Amino acid sequence: METELLYLNDSYLKVFSASAVRSEGRLLILDRTAFFPGGGGQPSDRGTISFNSGKTLSVIEVKKISGEIIHVLDDEPEGSSVNAKIDWERRYRLMKLHTSIHLMDGIIRRDFGQGYITGSQIYEDRARVDLDFPGLTKEVAQKIEDTTNEEISKGREVIVKYISREEALKIPDIARTKPGRELLEKLDKVRVVEIVGLDMQMDGGTHIKDINEIGRISVIKFENKGSHSKRLEIKVPNT
Ligand SMILES: [Zn+2]
Repeated sequence: METELLYLNDSYLKVFSASAVRSEGRLLILDRTAFFPGGGGQPSDRGTISFNSGKTLSVIEVKKISGEIIHVLDDEPEGSSVNAKIDWERRYRLMKLHTSIHLMDGIIRRDFGQGYITGSQIYEDRARVDLDFPGLTKEVAQKIEDTTNEEISKGREVIVKYISREEALKIPDIARTKPGRELLEKLDKVRVVEIVGLDMQMDGGTHIKDINEIGRISVIKFENKGSHSKRLEIKVPNT
């Protein structure tokens, strides 16, 4: 049975109740969950699950395997229904970092005449961004940081919507990676994250509702890995 994915339509859902579908050792499958299983560079959630037996366990990892979300717990589950809680401080930071990467991609494509993000990885406290951007220097990285912070201070709505594959295929760069482009060919309905007027891409992650929630970004590292290949690391406040 496929798990109902509550985080897809409400990325701000921090607590939820659910029923246990089955368990095996320390692995638990629920009928519905707000725990993000990781993907697209965003790590999986952490948190706690309290059972009707009175037992409360920590969620130490979350995975998605053929439509089912597997919660890896720190001990064996005990009970048929649960109240669960996402580690919100961690998840909110991951959301801010994820939306920041989309925002920077949109700004680079709009303002710099060259360069785009080829890959990214979000960590608990920062994010790594890989770019194909021959002209990217430390000075240009500073300009990207300044422009990104200007946009953040003005604010811009972030919306999640579903469009048909036909519609998606008409939008240039809707899928930014090779696996993404391959996946797009197989989907009937495509989940799209749009920073209104700036960036639109196919995405399965959790995002904030307005870029002003980011506060500001800081570029903490610049690496020149080749004529085209550059790497940046960014942080957001409270990380
Ligand atoms: Zn993304």
